[in-house]
Amino acid sequence: MTETEFCEKLRKSFCDNGLRELTAIEEQAFFILLNELLEANKITNLTAITDPEAAIAKHFADSLLGSESIPNGARVLDLGCGAGFPSLPLAIYRPDLTVLSLDSTAKKVAFVQKAAEKLQLSNLKTLVGRAEDRAIKKQIGKIDLIVSRAVARLNLLCELSLPLLAVGGSLLALKGAKGEEELKEAQSAIRILGGAVKSCDQRALLLLDGGVEERTILQIQKIKETPKEYPRSFAAMQKKPL
Ligand code: SAH
Repeated sequence: MTETEFCEKLRKSFCDNGLRELTAIEEQAFFILLNELLEANKITNLTAITDPEAAIAKHFADSLLGSESIPNGARVLDLGCGAGFPSLPLAIYRPDLTVLSLDSTAKKVAFVQKAAEKLQLSNLKTLVGRAEDRAIKKQIGKIDLIVSRAVARLNLLCELSLPLLAVGGSLLALKGAKGEEELKEAQSAIRILGGAVKSCDQRALLLLDGGVEERTILQIQKIKETPKEYPRSFAAMQKKPL
């Protein structure tokens, strides 16, 4: 796909999905990102989505659904960023944010770091580690908002996220069609961990081939301190979810 064709499709996808218009420099950044991703994917397994049209909607536009609720200038953690989704699109689209991309898999973080350098994204930093590791918490520091896509079911994701947030901060969980079901299942986890449901939005992700996929954008706010015994080890969370 040529850069001109790519930019036309990117513009259409962003417009269809209610996202703001991009500058020419931002469009070019997304084109470079796609090429970096496809190139790196030949060697390292980073994504199953290799068709450019699908990547525009399912990686780029999808990463930004719900981003309008992120406060200006916030310090954001992408928990389980994988190949940089949503953090890389977010850092391009929202230069006001300071983004930290965290993943437990070093080779994925290495890709995100390299892509951020190539794109000269001075507002994105990376970190290798597990969210539930207490030593990592110190390195992460103060976070206003956590975004996360396709990492764990909501009850587990809340146990990974809420301990890292300051009281008043929020988790923005990008979920699929079953988001509401996960929210029901996570009610006790949210309560125990000091959270409260702020919003649950059903959205449609419009694809470039005319298809539509259901999305659920969940916001969980931390309203009081999380009890010290959380997070437990990942094995314990999985064995006995809250
Ligand atoms: N958010 C990306 C990747 C999803 S795959 C996307 O939507 O494309 C899930 C990722 O979460 C994997 O890369 C995995 O390594 C990471 N992960 C899972 N549990 C984690 C944990 N406890 N701490 C940090 N990263 C974790």
